Amino acid sequence: MNIPNDKLDIPTLRAMRTWDVLAISCFDGRFIPRTVEWLRQEAGVFDYRTEPGSSKAIIDSLPDLYRIVNVVEIALRFHEITEVWLIDHADCMACGGSGIHQSAEAELDFHKRQLNQAKQALQRMCPGLEFKTAYIDWESAFFL
Ligand SMILES: [Zn+2]
Repeated sequence: MNIPNDKLDIPTLRAMRTWDVLAISCFDGRFIPRTVEWLRQEAGVFDYRTEPGSSKAIIDSLPDLYRIVNVVEIALRFHEITEVWLIDHADCMACGGSGIHQSAEAELDFHKRQLNQAKQALQRMCPGLEFKTAYIDWESAFFL
């Protein structure tokens, strides 16, 4: 169960043993503070994992996929998560940066396709969990 962010005082945090969300985003430090801020608003308490390229790591590398599945299984066992949120971001250097796309819309479409592929790959290996995809650009963060 998610608790509203403004109710997460220290006694509440100390008493918590389980929460709903494991979030996976890119390790690009330009986006981490805003990603975490958005996650706090949307999920309250969450597990958080960074991977270079986020969805790209899941799609392109079998060893990365297996490592991420291991993280999902640990989050499930320790914190009883029910949801995995996959987050890509604008200007991701692991994906070639914004410069390879004709427009911000084209870049977003590219990440939507990548995130859906990554979601399907993880869903096959982690049945029973809910998967959501999200995107963060220079102005906002949002679910897709
Ligand atoms: Zn990135």
